[in-house]
Amino acid sequence: MADFAASTMDFTKVDFTKLQAKLSKELDEERYQHTLGVMFTSASLAMAHGADVQKAQLAGLLHDCAKCIPNKRKIKLCEDNHIPFSKFEREHPFLLHARLGAFIAESKYGVSDPDILSAIVWHTTGRPDMTLLEKIVYIADYIEPQRAKAPNLTAIRRLAFKDLDECVYRILKDSVEYLEQNPKDLDTTTVEAFEYYKKLHEKTEEMNS
Ligand code: FE
Ligand code: FE
Repeated sequence: MADFAASTMDFTKVDFTKLQAKLSKELDEERYQHTLGVMFTSASLAMAHGADVQKAQLAGLLHDCAKCIPNKRKIKLCEDNHIPFSKFEREHPFLLHARLGAFIAESKYGVSDPDILSAIVWHTTGRPDMTLLEKIVYIADYIEPQRAKAPNLTAIRRLAFKDLDECVYRILKDSVEYLEQNPKDLDTTTVEAFEYYKKLHEKTEEMNS
């Protein structure tokens, strides 16, 4: 895996078949199928928005690589590897799959590209002022073909290929509304991200009126 060197990594040479075979052993069938959906959707969004297609594909493929690790083990792995996490994350350990996923993408899959790693870190909560690749993976995770439960999916899917910031805003808005049903599950990063993209949305509305 040493051939995956840092940011000098040649993304056109990544062996996706090999990586997929490896991942399919780490994930349950449902999660693996979701992962393939996120991979292809990330690549498509990269095409639509002028991002690096292979990088998006790789970030999408690896975004949930830590998802199927049991929660207790997630906490232990974070502690053992000095990955900092909050009290809120300890109480909601599924959130750790993002941070831990970035660590595993680097240590087990040899991917050290900082853009890819940050897209994995922020794919669950989002954050204010996301990078292009962060937005792509965040959106792809929400709209990939197998997703069916979220409200407004048709409109959000269409928006994803037109306006990333507006699309992120719509997803965060629906996510915050959903999480507010159980306020103790609402994390501050998601709220901060929502506030940021809401402001952006209002600014654009003002400019267009
Ligand atoms: Fe995830
Ligand atoms: Fe996911």
